[in-house]
Amino acid sequence: MYSEFLMKQITMAHGAGGSIMSSLIKNYVVKYLGGSNAEVPLEALDDAAVIGDIVFKSDSHAVKPIFFPGGDIGRLAVAGTVNDIAVLGAEPIALACGLVLEEGLLLTEFEKILESMSEACKESGVHVITGDTKVVERGTLGGCTINTSGLGRRSAALDRNISEVQKYRPFNAKWILDANLRDGDNLIVSGTVGDHGLAVLSSQEGYDFGSQITSDVAPLNKLIAHLLQVGGIVTMKDPTRGGLSNTLNELSEKSNIGILADEGKIPIRGDVKAACEMLGIDPLEIGNEGKVVIGVIPEKTDDVLEMLKATKKGKNAQIIGEATKDFRGVALKTAIGGKRILAPPIGDPIPRIC
Ligand code: MG
Repeated sequence: MYSEFLMKQITMAHGAGGSIMSSLIKNYVVKYLGGSNAEVPLEALDDAAVIGDIVFKSDSHAVKPIFFPGGDIGRLAVAGTVNDIAVLGAEPIALACGLVLEEGLLLTEFEKILESMSEACKESGVHVITGDTKVVERGTLGGCTINTSGLGRRSAALDRNISEVQKYRPFNAKWILDANLRDGDNLIVSGTVGDHGLAVLSSQEGYDFGSQITSDVAPLNKLIAHLLQVGGIVTMKDPTRGGLSNTLNELSEKSNIGILADEGKIPIRGDVKAACEMLGIDPLEIGNEGKVVIGVIPEKTDDVLEMLKATKKGKNAQIIGEATKDFRGVALKTAIGGKRILAPPIGDPIPRIC
């Protein structure tokens, strides 16, 4: 199915978060680097790993351009890693930051990025405690790339959440993993999808969508900590590269269960929908950086949704579907009453969004 070209060298599609990237990770990275005895190891391909009750995550950020409507690479670098740790149900506690700066980057821009990182650190309560800085010759880096790695730990909120699930059904997982979804669990998305990808695309290509589509990039750890207090959450995932479509397909595959989603219930801004129609791209395949998809037991769904809707970051949250044992994969109930398969995307249609 993939061209011979894709089999011989790295292409932009190999970094786009869909099935091509997933094959690259499984057939190369996991093949050579997998095989540890971590509790949640590399090969689980979850948002972060777990070793000895410590959650550990690394994420490199290469967004182009480094400044975009609603954010920049600094805010993205903090939020990306904090969110990947938080969606396992862990409390993120510290970050390491590796900066690779390109010759020619203005010091005023560098300072703006650091200020933005500092703000995101304060917002999340997670700070950079170690790091490294390198400089490379002028080239195609686009200013800088930033790697952040982070540590997280178990929290009382996670234990409370798990005991709340166990009141209603057997639940053996110690963490909030992609593989935890079961028949009847509901799926909630915390807000509108597609905003981040389109905001980055508009600055990459100089598009003017006639409205202010801004990135949703934000750390979600405090919001997630509140949700865990409500309880009943079995899985969480941030729908980044490959968008909601990729996220639902990963949850379905790892949990070995079907997902039936309702197209009409998925929150999408009107201007995002219109821009996607104009460009011929699917808003469900576009990456987000300030949203979370939550799998929750039916008994706690209303409580979790109500709590989310009372917050600024979750005010547009919706129940978008449920897990079902009736089939495998992801199906979408369409507006006209039919059903269509929501196949995993080959890749995010917009390159270098994170
Ligand atoms: Mg993630």
